[in-house]
Amino acid sequence: MKHPAKVIVAGAGIGGLTAAIALRQSGFEVAVLERAADLGEVGAGLLLAANAQKALGKLGLAEAVSSLGTPASAAEIRSWRGEVLASIPASELEKKVGAPSAAVHRADLQALLVRGVGEGTLRLGAEVGGFEQDRSGVTLSLAGGSQERADILVGADGLRSRIRATLFGSQKPRYAGYTAWRAVVEVGEELLPWGKGFESWGRGARFGCAHIGRGRIYWFATANAPEGEKDGPPGSLASPKATLLHLFGDWHRPIVELIEATDEGAVLRTDIYDREPLGERWGEAKVTLLGDAAHPMTPNLGQGACQAIEDAVVLARCLSEGGAAPVALRRYERLRSDQVAMVVRRSRRIGRVGQLENPLLCRLRDRALAMVPPKVQLKQLGEIVGHEV
Ligand SMILES: Cc1cc2nc3c(=O)[nH]c(=O)nc-3n(C[C@H](O)[C@H](O)[C@H](O)COP(=O)(O)OP(=O)(O)OC[C@H]3O[C@@H](n4cnc5c(N)ncnc54)[C@H](O)[C@@H]3O)c2cc1C
Repeated sequence: MKHPAKVIVAGAGIGGLTAAIALRQSGFEVAVLERAADLGEVGAGLLLAANAQKALGKLGLAEAVSSLGTPASAAEIRSWRGEVLASIPASELEKKVGAPSAAVHRADLQALLVRGVGEGTLRLGAEVGGFEQDRSGVTLSLAGGSQERADILVGADGLRSRIRATLFGSQKPRYAGYTAWRAVVEVGEELLPWGKGFESWGRGARFGCAHIGRGRIYWFATANAPEGEKDGPPGSLASPKATLLHLFGDWHRPIVELIEATDEGAVLRTDIYDREPLGERWGEAKVTLLGDAAHPMTPNLGQGACQAIEDAVVLARCLSEGGAAPVALRRYERLRSDQVAMVVRRSRRIGRVGQLENPLLCRLRDRALAMVPPKVQLKQLGEIVGHEV
């Protein structure tokens, strides 16, 4: 009996885990090699937009996913004072694209995917150091000196992907000029009515929040800042809370209340990066890339993980139809390249506009935003969250 082809996925983020599920369902033998010793819980939320929900539905996960998080009642942008500048009712968006979007806890999604990957597929503490290809496959070198052999290697190893660096050189990602703070608070509905998340824009700063189920609210904040700047330790004058209250202290309710209610030690701070899209080719011979390794994007559309999920479904389909061959990998890359390049560029543009500091430009921006007809907003959003893989 012929053995199934073996695919190694480097990295057990949302992209790598989803790829493992999709590839196993297509009959491949799969190993996911993850450098971290444990997957840990990222204390943050995530928008799981309709496009990702539909892609997960193709893997039989629709029901499990629908039990996570809270569908929003509207996609709403406000001014820092709280006036609604743009609002798309979720019901209209759902009608247009055929699936809901929801905010979920990252840890809940990760746990669901780990369960889906199944026993014996995920190897923790396994760091891929490099790889070499020959006519019949790929040999990976792991930190510690051991080697692994595979028919196909998928680099799902994130923003600073080593697989990508081996393929295309180790250029630094592009710093977007702003940083983001994130946290999850358990305050129930008294601060934010159920499903009433929002994103508010000020001068060089933004704040957003959403319910993510089981009485938890996820919030995020951004501000223009030098690359690599760090907050001081909790309780100090430059602590995360002190910095956030300085930035958002006079913004509309319940922003200050959410910051105040947060356990300071749980605030994550991440500088924001992306890369120029690679074009139609993301790999070489029997190696390809997926998710942030291929197309890191700024989080302004909440699409990085959603696009990684779409990648995973398309990759498995191409390999299943074309076999574990370079031609199938190149087809996957071609099928994905235009869509992800569009999302990378739009996310970058929204970030530039959202992070404007000049008061006059901010006033013009807010006015222009309020004048965009809902039909146009719905169409633009639909091109991304309505995308079907
Ligand atoms: C502030 C912020 C908010 C965001 N909000 C959203 C949102 O609402 N919705 C959304 O869809 N996206 C969002 N994103 C983007 C999203 O987090 C990423 O796009 C997504 O997590 C990428 O998943 P990935 O699996 O490609 O990579 P990662 O999650 O980075 O996973 C890569 C994995 O590879 C492992 N690894 C790295 N190197 C090696 C190696 N050499 N060997 C083995 N393993 C290795 C890492 O340990 C890691 O586990 C946000 C991002 C930020 C920063």
